[in-house]
Amino acid sequence: MSLSHLVVNNPYNGEKVGEVVAGGAAEIETAVACAHTGAELMAAMPAHQRSSILTHTAGQLRTEATELGYLIASESGKTWNEGIAEVKRAAGIFQLAAEEARRIHGETLPFDAFETGEGRTGYWLREPVGIVGAITPWNVPLALAAHKIAPAIAAGNAVVHKPAEQTPLNALKLQEIMLHVGLPMTALQVVTGLGEEAGDALVRHSDVPFVTFTGSRAVGMQLPARAGYKRVALELGGNSPVIITESANIKTASAAIVAGGYAVAGQLCISVQRVLVQRTMMKQLVDALVPLVEALVTGDPLEAKTNVGCLIDVAACDRIESLVHSTMRSGAALLYGGFRIGRTSFAPTLITDIPTDRGLAMDEAFGPIVALLPYDTLEQAVAIANATPYGLNAGIFTGQISQAEYAARNLNFGAVMINDVPSFRSDLMPYGGRKQSGIGREGVRFAIEEMTELKVICSKSISLN
Ligand code: NAP
Repeated sequence: MSLSHLVVNNPYNGEKVGEVVAGGAAEIETAVACAHTGAELMAAMPAHQRSSILTHTAGQLRTEATELGYLIASESGKTWNEGIAEVKRAAGIFQLAAEEARRIHGETLPFDAFETGEGRTGYWLREPVGIVGAITPWNVPLALAAHKIAPAIAAGNAVVHKPAEQTPLNALKLQEIMLHVGLPMTALQVVTGLGEEAGDALVRHSDVPFVTFTGSRAVGMQLPARAGYKRVALELGGNSPVIITESANIKTASAAIVAGGYAVAGQLCISVQRVLVQRTMMKQLVDALVPLVEALVTGDPLEAKTNVGCLIDVAACDRIESLVHSTMRSGAALLYGGFRIGRTSFAPTLITDIPTDRGLAMDEAFGPIVALLPYDTLEQAVAIANATPYGLNAGIFTGQISQAEYAARNLNFGAVMINDVPSFRSDLMPYGGRKQSGIGREGVRFAIEEMTELKVICSKSISLN
């Protein structure tokens, strides 16, 4: 039977970058069957060997960062510099996993704390779940694959990876690197194909005890019901706020907002989307922000001078254009941008006076749009920040410790950045969302916890005669 194919295009100019197999349920079936062998091999592999494979993967990623960064930029429309940075980040995640692989352990249990436990000794330990199903999005294709594959291998699992249909080539490259540095062939299966076919089959497969998904809220929220009896971790979308108080350092905050709002053309789950500004600071912030946004170069992601790449496809650019137009029709004021540039690029856009009960204020934009919303009291700012269905990261710029503490305590988010934008993430922190931004945590050590099962070993002493 001949397999159908998916063409991978450069989102900026539509040119063909490559072609992959469009796998479906049959390919998932084969991959899971192979992964059974992989899971046995990995569970038996000593920690130092798993660690060594991960270290060598990190090294090879660093060696190939420029080429792999180019491939990522060609597939995803992020800039080449962003692509290279992502490869280096992925290398760091593999290195971290190499270190964590050596310290996956349990502890002894004091059974005799209860009368019923007298004469018993024992401990708990972590065992791999077996096969990890990993489904990843296109916007950070390599680093987010690393966030699933590296901890899974560190913990002694096999992985079946379904990358996004737009960015399968770097996933195949990562697989090639890992096999080259000694990972058993059966331990990492990559099935390229469509989400509703290959992805759905992976989620539903009864031999895959754990599925880790990063993607949109719309898709992610349907998965637990389809998955049946298994664990599902979800890393979903966001609508991240940053609060600017009257004591904020405006120069620092402005630079961070621009970096966090327009990186990857705003297509990050923790992009700065809402800037909540103390009303008296609005003019000062706008005056600082506009020249910085104006200075950004939007263009071909593969050119070194480009700061802002393109949207993932024409439909995404159409969606952003119509979001800006509808927000404008509702009375919003454009401070900069608001126009399309060519096929899939959109000018970095700064907007204010938006409706506060819908659109940009509530949903995920996933494009280069930052909205400024005024507030009067910090209590009000925190209430506005909390008012969306999302809860990934939030930030606050303030010179007052009491304001920072208030925000840290009351912002209902997975992480609160003080004197930084919500777009900051360290790969070692427990990362994930509250509310509809997800279930579970990534960050290598925390992902390992999700990808292992606890087992108790209890030994009862018996008399010698
Ligand atoms: P998406 O459309 O939800 O796709 C994500 C992945 O799920 C892709 O591999 C996709 O395959 C697959 N998929 C689609 N339908 C499926 C189904 N029915 N069953 C199983 N898998 C299915 O998301 P995206 O557009 O690629 O990524 C953007 C979204 O991801 C944004 O909302 C962003 O905020 C979120 N995100 C979250 C994080 C985080 O850490 N919280 C990080 C990055 C991105 P196809 O490519 O074939 O559709």
